[in-house]
Amino acid sequence: GKTRPMEYRVAQLEALGRFLDDKKQQIMDATASDLGKAPFETELSEILMCKNELHETLSNLSRWMKDEKVDRILAVQLDSAFIPFIRKDPYGVVLIIAPWNYPIHLFLVPLIGAIAAGNCAIIKPSEVSKKTETLVAEALPSYLDKDCFAVVTGGVQETTRLLENKFDYIFFTGSPPVGRIVMTAAAKHLTPVTLELGGKNPCYVSDTCDVTNVARRVAWGRFFNAGQTCIAPDYLLCTLEMQEKLLPALQKAINDFYGPNPRESPDFGRIVSDKQFQLLCSGRVAIGGQTDEAERYIAPTVLVDVQPSDAVMQEEIFGPILPIIIITNMDEAIDFINSRERPLAIYAFSSDDKVVNRVLERTSSGGFCGNDTMMHVTLPSLPFGGIGNSGLGTHHGKFSFDTFSHARGCLKRGMGQEPLNAPRYPPYSQRKFGI
Ligand code: NAD
Repeated sequence: GKTRPMEYRVAQLEALGRFLDDKKQQIMDATASDLGKAPFETELSEILMCKNELHETLSNLSRWMKDEKVDRILAVQLDSAFIPFIRKDPYGVVLIIAPWNYPIHLFLVPLIGAIAAGNCAIIKPSEVSKKTETLVAEALPSYLDKDCFAVVTGGVQETTRLLENKFDYIFFTGSPPVGRIVMTAAAKHLTPVTLELGGKNPCYVSDTCDVTNVARRVAWGRFFNAGQTCIAPDYLLCTLEMQEKLLPALQKAINDFYGPNPRESPDFGRIVSDKQFQLLCSGRVAIGGQTDEAERYIAPTVLVDVQPSDAVMQEEIFGPILPIIIITNMDEAIDFINSRERPLAIYAFSSDDKVVNRVLERTSSGGFCGNDTMMHVTLPSLPFGGIGNSGLGTHHGKFSFDTFSHARGCLKRGMGQEPLNAPRYPPYSQRKFGI
């Protein structure tokens, strides 16, 4: 019962805010070391987004925690002491498993939801983003109540052992194959799960667009964090004519963002590990293509003449590489999208709103953004999550609170009004309900 009172939840959430303030520089240093992340990108995607989530949660928590009154059935209208309501109960002990690409954000945002809903939590950061893992393991526990929150470090072996335990909820962010492993482990204990997974996010660009703006918005989404973002546009779908216009515009956007040599830009990141680097180096290059293994550097790269059967179109890319697939019209783009696994996000660019709406209506994905990339994730008012191969369940803002709460259907009655119960009691041979 310790984690249930609102004052306790608020105190822990405020402590998370202090962790972000006090350790801001260490977080910047750790993510720069792990991912070459620019300080501004860390500030935006790791610190500011967590603070927004904290602000949203602290501002609304008392309202979210209230019992929800629900309608009564007609038969009990006369009984004023017949009160149905939904109680938002914590699940109990929650396990949060996080990946490396946003190594603070991706455990902290779910943790905010878990604490807000009154749970205890075990946090398992990624072992791949080593410096951040160490920082979290060393610093976070001194901010939170040690009786109720713990950080467990390690990789596959440790997580496998952790998953043998019976948790009351598991929140996993990572790849679809590991998502299956987590769900299988959870099934043994009938533990409910949220799975925030990945996939290949299509980006359709129609022939009627402001090409300069499209190129800037796509390049930002693809090359932010060196392309290691689960909602990054993974590949472009456009006509050959549009590709001819887009290539110089993309080249200009890359130049404007990172200068003539992105390797020297303080704003362009690096690939997290040697293993991940090896996965990415293949394909035919129209822009970029330079690599340096020692630095795990891959230039912002655009690939053309890409076939759907090419290796780059099989797995989520998760690097600064943007293949372009040529289609002849919007219907072909929609068919292409629908012939593949349902992605975490779909992007559609067109100056004709009907085109954007058509893509929205005829496809299915975790989230959608028209005429921009990734910006839908910044709104705590929107549910964030996948569908099918890209995941199960949602979080952010109130959706996080609901994810980590069990909606307990409750009814309280007074002791009186017994005659109203008479029709449901035996002997049934007596005439009941006019039957
Ligand atoms: P991953 O699945 O390899 O690892 C995620 C976590 O699971 C890590 O903490 C890791 O230690 C653990 N893990 C790895 N293998 C395991 C195993 N066999 N058994 C038990 N635990 C295991 O993912 P990653 O490489 O860290 O992250 C990249 C993936 O995450 C991409 O697919 C990306 O799209 C996805 N992602 C999704 C979201 C989202 O919100 N949907 C956000 C970020 C990343």
